[in-house]
Amino acid sequence: MTQELHIIGGGMAGSEAAWQAANAGVQVVIHEMRPKVGTFAHQSGDLAEMVCSNSFRSDDDEQNAVGLLHWEMRAANGLIMAMADAHQLPAGGALAVDREAFAGAVTARLHAHPNVRIEAGEITALPDSGHWIVATGPLTSPSLGAAIAEATGTDRLAFFDAIAPIVYTESIDMSVAWEQSRYDKGDTQEEQRAYINCPMTKDQYEAFIDALLAAEKTEFHEGETATYFDGCLPIEVMAERGRETLRFGPMKPVGLTNAHDPQTKAYAVVQLRRDNALGTLYNIVGFQTKMKYGAQTSVFKMIPGLENASFARLGGIHRNTFLNSPTLLDDQMRLKSRPNLRFAGQVTGVEGYVESAAMGLLAGRLAAAEIQGRALESPSGTTATGALIHHITGGADAKTFQPMNVNFGLFPAVEGLKGGRRGRKDRYKAYTDRAKADFTNWLQDQEVTL
Ligand SMILES: Cc1cc2nc3c(=O)[nH]c(=O)nc-3n(C[C@H](O)[C@H](O)[C@H](O)COP(=O)(O)OP(=O)(O)OC[C@H]3O[C@@H](n4cnc5c(N)ncnc54)[C@H](O)[C@@H]3O)c2cc1C
Repeated sequence: MTQELHIIGGGMAGSEAAWQAANAGVQVVIHEMRPKVGTFAHQSGDLAEMVCSNSFRSDDDEQNAVGLLHWEMRAANGLIMAMADAHQLPAGGALAVDREAFAGAVTARLHAHPNVRIEAGEITALPDSGHWIVATGPLTSPSLGAAIAEATGTDRLAFFDAIAPIVYTESIDMSVAWEQSRYDKGDTQEEQRAYINCPMTKDQYEAFIDALLAAEKTEFHEGETATYFDGCLPIEVMAERGRETLRFGPMKPVGLTNAHDPQTKAYAVVQLRRDNALGTLYNIVGFQTKMKYGAQTSVFKMIPGLENASFARLGGIHRNTFLNSPTLLDDQMRLKSRPNLRFAGQVTGVEGYVESAAMGLLAGRLAAAEIQGRALESPSGTTATGALIHHITGGADAKTFQPMNVNFGLFPAVEGLKGGRRGRKDRYKAYTDRAKADFTNWLQDQEVTL
C-alpha cells in the first residue's frame, strides 16, 4: 500500500495540511481542480486563494481567540501564517494581507517543497484505499459532493448553512430572562429548563419588527444560486411575509410562564438553546439571518435580557458544503465509516480562513503520524486548535450542528476567576496563557517522537 498522502483541495486547509505532512517527511500529492475546473467565488489557479475579505481577523493573541489560533499556527511552523506575515498590510489590530502576493507565495513554497507534488484536476470519487485528506471547502465540486453524500447519507452533508447568532451565556440578563422548556417538556429538571426565554411586550415586539424590516441585509454572491428551505427562512424574510409571522413561528409565547412575572403573559418570546456541552454558549432559536453584522448586534440587543449580550458569532446563510462532523468524524478527523479518509477545513464545520487552515494543520500532522506509525492525539481542548476539534467532533449538538468559528466560549473555564464583563480581561489572558503552555507541550511531545 502506498505511503503517500493525497490531499484533495489546495485551499487554506489543504495547503497547510500538505506543508505540515511534507515537513514531517511524508510524500504528499495535492489534487487541486483549479484552474481546470472553477468555482463561482475563486478567481485564480493559485493555492490558498482568499475568496472574499483579505483579513485573517484579530492578531491579538492575549485577548482574542482568533489571535490565539494565529499564535498556535505560528508556533507549529504554519505556512499560511508565515506567508500572511510576509505579505501583511496595515490594518490596525487585524492581520490583513495582500491576497495575490499571499496566495502566490503559498503556491510557490509548496511547488518548491521536495516532498510535495501538485496535480491539477478534479477528483470526482472517494478513494477506497491509501491515505487521503478531503479539504475541498465550502464549494466542494458537485460530483465529489454527491460522492461524499453517498458515503455519509444525504441528511449528514449540508450544502447551505443557516446560522443563528450565538450568545455567551454569562452576558444574558437572567433578572429578565428565565429557564424553561415550552410546556415544561422533558423527564428531568435539566430538560424542563433547557431553554432561556426572553419576554416581549406588544410595543417591544412591534419595535423589533420595524427594526428587522429596516435593517441592512447582505445579498447572496453572484453565481451563488440559493433558494430558502422551509424551516430555515431568515427571520427578516419571515417578518416581510407578515408582522405576525414570527409571533406564530420562532417567537411564539405559548407554553411559557415568565418566572419573574407569572401573572403577565408575554406577547412574544425569544428562545435561546444551549449550543455546547460546556453550557457557555446559547443560540437564538430560529434566528438565522442575512442582516449585516452591525445591524444584527443593534437589532438583537433590543431583545429584553440581551441588552448587554456578547455574541460569540453572528448569524448568516451561505453556500457551504459541510459534514455533520459530531456524528461522522472520529477524534482523528477520520470518517468513522471509511477511516482511510480524513476531512479538514471548512467542510468539517469550522468557519473562516484561519479556522480552516488550523484544521488543515492538525489533519496534516495526524495523517503524517499515522503513516509513520507514531501515536499522536489532538491537542487539549484548552488550546484554540483543540477547542475547535473537540467542539466539532464531540462538544457540539449533532442535531443542530452548524459551522463554528473559534471563540472563548469553546474553552473550559479556568477555575477561580471572576465571571461577567468585569473579569473578562483577566479571564481571556488566563485562557490564552494556559493554551500557549499546553500547545507548546503538544508540539514538544511530537519533537521527541519525530
Ligand atoms: C463566497 C464566499 C465568501 C467567503 N468569505 C470569507 C471571508 O471573507 N473570510 C473568511 O474567513 N472566510 C470566508 N469564506 C469561507 C472561506 O472560503 C473558508 O473559510 C476557507 O477558504 C476554507 O478553506 P478550505 O481550505 O476549507 O476551502 P477552500 O479554501 O475553498 O479550498 C478548497 C479547495 O478545494 C478545491 N476543490 C473543490 N472540490 C474539488 C475537487 N473535487 N477536486 C479537487 N479540488 C477541489 C477548490 O478549488 C479549492 O481550492 C467565504 C466562502 C465563500 C464561499
